[in-house]
Amino acid sequence: MTAAAVLEATNLARHYQVSRGAFREPVTLKALNGASFVLQRGKTLAVVGESGCGKSTLARLVTLIEPPTSGELRIEGIDLATTDSATRRSWRTKVQIVFQDPYGSLNPRQKIGHALEEPLLVNTGKSRDERRRAAQEMLALVGLRPEHYDRYPHMFSGGQRQRIAVARALMLNPEILVLDEPVSALDVSIQAQILNLLVDLQERFNLAYLFISHDLSVVHHIADEIMVMYLGVPVESGSRDAIFNNPKHPYTQALLSATPVADPFREKKRIVLRGELPSPINPPSGCTFHPRCPVAIDICPQVVPEHRRVGGSIVTCHVAKE
Ligand code: SF4
Repeated sequence: MTAAAVLEATNLARHYQVSRGAFREPVTLKALNGASFVLQRGKTLAVVGESGCGKSTLARLVTLIEPPTSGELRIEGIDLATTDSATRRSWRTKVQIVFQDPYGSLNPRQKIGHALEEPLLVNTGKSRDERRRAAQEMLALVGLRPEHYDRYPHMFSGGQRQRIAVARALMLNPEILVLDEPVSALDVSIQAQILNLLVDLQERFNLAYLFISHDLSVVHHIADEIMVMYLGVPVESGSRDAIFNNPKHPYTQALLSATPVADPFREKKRIVLRGELPSPINPPSGCTFHPRCPVAIDICPQVVPEHRRVGGSIVTCHVAKE
């Protein structure tokens, strides 16, 4: 791990046993099946894909809500599977999450000031005055006013509530913020304000972001690195420029072809994928993308492609070329 790396995941997998009734064997759902990536301080890794691609499972593993079935998760070089429970507990406070729906994560009967103070009450020995001061400072940092301290969640707009959710996530000085579709529920004009706030806070606190989104225009605004997922597997990973300027995997190319570009002189041909995302309970053989892939060849349904370097990206495809 380099000095800037705060979290390193190697071949991370999460499988679930799904019951099919009393007389049938349970089946294995491979929600996540071999993700490797690094989160760097002060940088954003965006995870992109359709719903059901494994992004939210990844978020639960990184926030230590559930353990991986296999693979390794190291935070600051410590393997979380083998470390003691006290270290694991202390790491839970260092990795915080912000969800898509801030209203759902706020108690409607709790004043905002108390919601912000709660993590300090539970995890630190700070006095009442210290907690209040910290909550008020955090309100100012996320662009809210001191009088908001005594208000309830229903008194805020969607954008303000997301500011509160970000403030709450920062109360324990985390090192990693998992942002699970944090602007998807907001109007486009408000999305930009929240994204700018996240960029400012990242610079100020040197935070590592794991930014989960299905929206590539949003990802373009905030990502340093991008990992594209399909049916629980990363199919392409690289820098934002490599992915946006020269995508190598047919799935990434299709996703990007459907994303509006700011450059009116750049011609784009829309690639329409056939069919729906298959069920992860019964994924297609070989390359799981083959039934929808516009450039599949004979080997694709038979052999699982390896992750390999192609140009500036790591790509999981038999066909992708420099
Ligand atoms: Fe398409 Fe084959 Fe590449 Fe899979 S391995 S993305 S099916 S070309």
